[in-house]
Amino acid sequence: MNRVILIKYGELSTKKANRNFFIKTLYNNIVEKLEGFDVKISKDLGRMYIYFNDEDLDDIIDIMGSIFGIHTYHVAYIADTNTSDIEKIVIESLKNEQFKTFKVIVKRTDKTFQYDSPTYSKILGGVVLKNINNINVDVHNPDVTVTVEIRENKSYIYFNSYKGLGGYPVGTQPKGLLMLSGGIDSPVAGYLALKRGIKVNCVYFEAIPHTSLEAREKVISLVKKLCKYSNNINLHIVNFTPIQEEIYKTCDSDYVITIMRRMMYRIMEKLVYKYKAKAIINGESIGQVASQTLVSMNVINSVTNLPVIRPVACLDKLEIIDIAKKIDTYDISILPYEDCCTVFVPKHPVINPDKERCIEMEKSFNYEQMIYDAVKNIETIKISDKEQENELL
Ligand code: ATP
Ligand code: MG
Repeated sequence: MNRVILIKYGELSTKKANRNFFIKTLYNNIVEKLEGFDVKISKDLGRMYIYFNDEDLDDIIDIMGSIFGIHTYHVAYIADTNTSDIEKIVIESLKNEQFKTFKVIVKRTDKTFQYDSPTYSKILGGVVLKNINNINVDVHNPDVTVTVEIRENKSYIYFNSYKGLGGYPVGTQPKGLLMLSGGIDSPVAGYLALKRGIKVNCVYFEAIPHTSLEAREKVISLVKKLCKYSNNINLHIVNFTPIQEEIYKTCDSDYVITIMRRMMYRIMEKLVYKYKAKAIINGESIGQVASQTLVSMNVINSVTNLPVIRPVACLDKLEIIDIAKKIDTYDISILPYEDCCTVFVPKHPVINPDKERCIEMEKSFNYEQMIYDAVKNIETIKISDKEQENELL
């Protein structure tokens, strides 16, 4: 019996042009993820079909579970759209299932088919009862639900469905730059941004020798985890050491974090333009630390007019941790390497910073030049979740 993976789309825009773009993007993403598999993929406005070799089925099912834009997917048996072939395939395929009770659901989109859906459900139910012994119909809580989708030319028969991730296909929105530290929050923020279709690339602020190369490796591992939900991801590494040291030398200790973050945002703005992105994304969560009070966010955010997307802003830490575990970043994030924001944390970081004071303190060093240098000397690594080596760009 021939089988196919039937893919149903997630939340779709109602505008037709957008719909086509959504489907095309999802199609390209699936093609890219299934590179190396011997598959044939086709699409129409309602669904996508993946024809596969049996030995690849488990792997492909797994991969479909990490592609945004897929609502549900099924492994379906294919029949020709006529009663005798449909009935033959239903009976044959049910022989692979263990069950005592069943029900049949028919969904007819081919209106030229001779029966309407409720009528043919009953007929098929009768055929199943006649051909398989010791089973009963149970419409409320059946062991097996036989779904038959009757379309022009071909019909599809399946018994179970896999839940996709939903969201929009990655790439249906332009690029966003994720500030990725080694912590728990920012990978989750990246995952949630990908979910809305944003093509995410990452920026890591490094402060060697105050932070270690292990910290960088940790960030690379996190990007690899995110690649599962995207294709390749570029990781841009900013040498933040000179700016950070200057801040510690010249600014009041309770303000160093605020000013450091204002500098990060300034650099992010430059990088957004440099890499033709449209937004900054980060893992700030309201009230989590001193730099994430609304007053702090206001003072830090005021250095840029770009949209700053904070996907975990309103989540509790435990909710963030749940997602981190689900996407398998949690165990990496809790490895104990220092981040540049944690190496010099002052005893009492300011909770309600004053913008004018920041501006005053920032006059004490030539940050414009330092930002220019940091952007100019950026290092970029192209990361994928495949086995191959990362590529230095
Ligand atoms: P996380 O848990 O993601 O590390 P955090 O709890 O350490 O966040 P902060 O240090 O206040 O919180 O940072 C808030 C956000 O700023 C992070 O989620 C991340 O998006 C960004 N950020 C912090 N440090 C860095 C860094 N070294 N490189 C890139 N982004 C950073
Ligand atoms: Mg945090």
